[in-house]
Amino acid sequence: MARAVSLWLDTSLQPLARGVFERELTALRVGGGHECRRRNRQTQGSMSEHATGQALDIFAFQLGEEKQGGLEVSVERPNGLEHTRFLEAVRQSACGAFMTVLGPGSDAAHANHLHVDIQQRRAASSRFCQ
Ligand SMILES: [Zn+2]
Repeated sequence: MARAVSLWLDTSLQPLARGVFERELTALRVGGGHECRRRNRQTQGSMSEHATGQALDIFAFQLGEEKQGGLEVSVERPNGLEHTRFLEAVRQSACGAFMTVLGPGSDAAHANHLHVDIQQRRAASSRFCQ
């Protein structure tokens, strides 16, 4: 998972940050990474991909240094068209880099963050991207 995130950062996110904002991506604000729990924090049902360390939840992207006019792009509350376009491009690139991508609009549990994971789906080439 670390390798997949690292590759995504280098080949997609950093170029997108430079292209859209002319700034470096300096941090990801993340929630759960490796965390033993069931899907969507339910008490029953399938184990989450977070339980095996194969998933990451991203809440925001930090661009540039805060002291030098840096900005944060929130997944839940993008601030204007530029942020929205950046998030759309990020999400599209995530669909190529990970096996599952869920975010705002997919379901209530993912309304405020982007979930990415590398769990193989039934068909090796199949991806779940919502
Ligand atoms: Zn998640």
